[in-house]
Amino acid sequence: MPDTMLVINAGSSSIKFQLFDLMPTVGQADPMPARLRGQIEGIGTQPRLLLRSSEGCGAGYEEALPAAVEGMPNAMTFLGNWLREWLGGVLPVAVGHRVVHGGPAYDEPIVVDDAAIETLERYAPLAPLHQPHNLAPIRAIRSMMPGMVQVACFDTAFHRRHPEVADRYAIPEQLYREGVRRYGFHGLSYEWIARRLHDVAPLIAHGRVIIAHLGSGASMCAIQDGVSIDSTMGFTALDGLPMGTRPGQLDPGIVLYLLSRGMDAHAIEQMLYRDCGLKGLSGFSNDVRDLLGSPDPRASLALEVFIYRASLAIGSLTAALGGLDALVFTAGIGEHSAVIRSAIAERSRWIGLVLDETANLMGRSCISSADSQVQAYVIPTDEERMIATHTSALLARRR
Ligand code: ADP
Repeated sequence: MPDTMLVINAGSSSIKFQLFDLMPTVGQADPMPARLRGQIEGIGTQPRLLLRSSEGCGAGYEEALPAAVEGMPNAMTFLGNWLREWLGGVLPVAVGHRVVHGGPAYDEPIVVDDAAIETLERYAPLAPLHQPHNLAPIRAIRSMMPGMVQVACFDTAFHRRHPEVADRYAIPEQLYREGVRRYGFHGLSYEWIARRLHDVAPLIAHGRVIIAHLGSGASMCAIQDGVSIDSTMGFTALDGLPMGTRPGQLDPGIVLYLLSRGMDAHAIEQMLYRDCGLKGLSGFSNDVRDLLGSPDPRASLALEVFIYRASLAIGSLTAALGGLDALVFTAGIGEHSAVIRSAIAERSRWIGLVLDETANLMGRSCISSADSQVQAYVIPTDEERMIATHTSALLARRR
């Protein structure tokens, strides 16, 4: 049996995981096939193990977990034992993790040690909804199996080579030196798409491209010749586009106003991360599918604001790039909603973007019309595979 590598993408109530073969059998096209994809969800409420695809054990396999599996350390112990059994007693050779914030310290993936965990814990206030949950499984595995090689891959790393003008806020320099910078997020997704472009559209891969990662978290990234030069997100994952439950760009005066009304920092943080965006605007859902199917005028308004702000971001990133060769849609909304893609493209006609609506409806890879000056693509993202790629490269360098 070939060596395997586990990839973990942990959130507040779920652990998504994929198990990759490190050395595929001869003749296999995929250099790193995924043998197992699944998630433990409902951690803290009703934990369940779900398999999205696997060898041997059918996709869609579902197992309710006992209450004792509650909490991240218990869930990791359960997953470790379950995987060991599934693999016939053999453990993966390494675990790759998604960690949202690498701060100013990390601009590439690292092998995690105690000092790195301590540094990464200091960035938790910069990503309160993600960072503590990303670090919990790293700590759990470290205490269960201290010898296991664990690699942290950061959502901020892909953006760390932004030119300084894009990295700066217009605030006193001391704050910049402390690390108050425009980091940008969703970097693992952008890096994956930048690599995929070489296969999907080789001529465009070296050009000026905006990638629109539109999922429950949403941002856009301007890449030039495969390198990120700017993005809509900044110091935290609150900035930029309106999202499922986050507001995106906001006048900081609003936060001062809320403080003056007596709201404390914790209550404001909760509101900004959980109650804004599509959910705040519509008053009932953060899911684009619900909003598209609803007759409620607040649902239409929420979608219109999302589309309007997305089109403004395209204009702004086009300015950063000095023109635009292609727009790529990815993530939940970007990959699956032809209606939203079409509405964003309609507002971007002024830059020469015209969709082929049939290709768009059919979800083809290239969705721009033959005479469009700006090309448009739909490319599925795969953050877990990007983590696997980084982890295996780091392992190879250590050998
Ligand atoms: P994340 O990984 O950040 O949780 P995803 O990239 O999976 O998010 O995107 C989830 C979002 O994608 C959902 O909240 C929903 O709004 C949207 N989505 C998924 N499928 C569709 C669809 N068929 N049509 C419109 N929106 C969709």
